[in-house]
Formats: sequence, structure tokens, C-alpha cells
Amino acid sequence: MPKLICPACDQRFNLTDNRVVCDCGGLLNLVQPLEKLKKQNLKEIFDSRLGARELPDASGVWRYRELLFPVEKIMSRGEGNTRLYPAPQISVELDVEVLFKHEGENPSGSFKDRGMTAAISAGANIGCRNFVCASTGNTSASLASYCAANDLNGIVIIPEGKIAFGKLSQALAFGAKVLQVEGDFDAAMQLVNELGRRFNPENPSESVYVLNSVNPFRIEGQKTIVLEILQQLAWEAPDWIVLPAGNLGNTSAFGKAISEAFDLGLIDKKPRLAAVQATGANPFFNYFKSGWEKFESVENPETIATAIKIGNPQSFLRAKRSIETTNGIVLEATEDEILDAKATIDAAGIGCEPASACSLAGIRQLVKSGEIKPGQKIVGVLTGHLLKDPDTTVNYHSGRLAVSNAARVNRPQKIEADLDAIFKAIGRE
Ligand SMILES: [Zn+2]
Repeated sequence: MPKLICPACDQRFNLTDNRVVCDCGGLLNLVQPLEKLKKQNLKEIFDSRLGARELPDASGVWRYRELLFPVEKIMSRGEGNTRLYPAPQISVELDVEVLFKHEGENPSGSFKDRGMTAAISAGANIGCRNFVCASTGNTSASLASYCAANDLNGIVIIPEGKIAFGKLSQALAFGAKVLQVEGDFDAAMQLVNELGRRFNPENPSESVYVLNSVNPFRIEGQKTIVLEILQQLAWEAPDWIVLPAGNLGNTSAFGKAISEAFDLGLIDKKPRLAAVQATGANPFFNYFKSGWEKFESVENPETIATAIKIGNPQSFLRAKRSIETTNGIVLEATEDEILDAKATIDAAGIGCEPASACSLAGIRQLVKSGEIKPGQKIVGVLTGHLLKDPDTTVNYHSGRLAVSNAARVNRPQKIEADLDAIFKAIGRE
């Protein structure tokens, strides 16, 4: 059985102890019994489940359940199974092979569904009924969806202002209790952490169970993004995996997944991780740049990439370990780089929300600096669907956002209501 271990004080818990955080406040790591897992032919087991019609095998999370944790009943919406798109135009332009893993194709439109099915299942299995998260949007949409589908109480605490409209609409539509508090994401997160400290393992049904990425089971679910990429590539690891970085749950999960897959012999080399922050919300980038000397949160983070607008990421120590164990790199991307990368991914017919485009912005930087070599295979992770934030897309293409390169701006044209005007507009006079 996996165990929960606090890296701060080394206290250990069994899964049946119903813990989310340690007594000392430290975040718990779920440690897999790797020696025992090595005795199973996991590649064969995982591959035999591809194409399954029924849950749990049909879920792109629970297909890998040997590397998660045991639960009696899963709360699943068939999440995962997202596509890995080739991007030929971008690959030619950069002289590398770029593939995009589109996590926006999950049931609620973002990667969050993977951690959500894992953590809600963990909570519901110990009798929890009330689930809470602080969220800039995607987590709340996912939590609301999974709670609605499983008849559980969803509570989302969101910061005031600048929540992407698509995401707020989901939380409301799915019937979660939406509580908007004064202050930014970090203020909302503090309140949720306080709720977490009040969680009573003796009385889970009356307690509120925290579903932010401090929850170790979320990390386990998010590991399956990497496992699915590896399986889609026939267990041949790419040279790089590049991902957006905000609260650092994915960075933590990706490093853990890569290390476990490598230790279990599922892959014979580790891909390097590149975590990409927005310049206006870059505490992890600064921490990396300081040689891991000093972690300082960013006051009043600001970026158009709302999904990663986080000044005080909860998982920075776990994420540091991921970067170290994968010989990884942390980068920052400007608003201009993010918008241009988004327009490029959109114009390739793939599409994503602004934060997701950090992956391409990071790939471009690494190619330019020579860190990524010609011909290397790179997977960029797109964390959310294009329709999560339609305002930014429409503002960009209407010319309402200041950008240095407007070549991709695709303004709607007003024309007379006749055929001649249409022929003229499409250059067929
Ligand atoms: Zn501890």
C-alpha cells in the first residue's frame, strides 16, 4: 500500500488515517511501493486497457490505477484520453518535433479533472460529503462538475474580479456554492488552508474536504498526464516536456510521474521538464534563478494568463524536487510572448486558453537559447480549452490588446449585405 509521508517532519500516515495535511502543516507526499510494483508488467497491463468501453479502464486516469492508490468506488467522468496533436507548422518553424498534449479535452475543459477524480474519490471513500477549493477558475469548474455528477456538495472560493468568464459560468451552472471573497487568489487559498486544518478525520461527513493541489491525491491524478503521454508515444520518452506553471501542482506531479516511470522501467530515459511562469506571477522562476537560495512570494501578481496568476504557490518545494530530478529548467514568459504563442497554437487549429500558451512560449525560448537541440522531440502541455477564456481571444483579434506582432490578428470585417461584397472580401472579384 502507498503511504503518506511529510517531507518536513518525516511523520508517516496510512491512507486509512484520513489525512490531507500533516500535523506540522506540511504537505504530504504519497510514496508508492515501487519494489512491489516492479514485479508487475505494468506496460502490458496499461496497454491491455486501451480501448476499454467500461470504467475504470476507460478512464485515462484510472487506467493507471496501480500507480495511484486503492479506492473502493471511483468518482469518474471518463476523464483523460486527451489527444496528442502533432504541430507540423510549428515544428518546421523551430526545426524540432513539437506535439501538444491537449488537456483542455477533459470533461470540464481542463487538466484539473484528472486530479479531481482522484481526490474526490479519495474523500468520498472515507465518507466526505463537502468539498471545497480556492480557484482562479478551472479547479472550481472541475470540482463543481464532479460534485454535481456524484451528488456531493461543492463549495468554491474565488477571488474578486478577473475570473475568466467561461470558468465562472461552469461553477454556477453545475450548482456549486460560489463564494467570492475580497482579495486575490492567495487570500482565498489561505482561507481554504484554514478549513483544511479544521478537518476532523473522526467525522469526515461533517468536515470540509480540501481539494486544492495541497491534496496529495490530486497530484497522483495529475501524474497520469505524463503517463498518458508516454503511453501515446509507445513508452518512448520525449526529450522535453514543457508546461505552464502557476500553483505548481502539475510541475510537482510531472516530476513524480517521470521518476516513478523511470524507476519502474516504463521508460529508459527521463524527459527534461521546463516549467514556464508568466513574468507578472513568477515566484518559482525567481527561486530557480537564485539557485534555490530564496523563495519569495509575489505580491499582487498580474497576468492575462489568469489560470497561473498566483503569487504564492503552495507546492514550491515539491516542484523544486521535480525540476532537480529531471535536470529541468524554469522560465518566464512576457504577456506579449504568451499572446503570440496562443495565437500561433490557435492558428494551428488546436487552440488553448492563455496560460496554456506558456508551453510554446517556453519552447521558443529554449530553441533560441540552444537548450533544445534541432530534431528533438518536445511535448508542450496545453492545460485548458480555448473556450475557457473567450474574452481574451476576441479582444486580441479585435485589436483591443497591445501586442508587438499583430500579424495573426484576425479582425472581423463589416461588409454590405450582398454577394459582390462577399466576393470582394475573399479576393474573388
Ligand atoms: Zn509534518
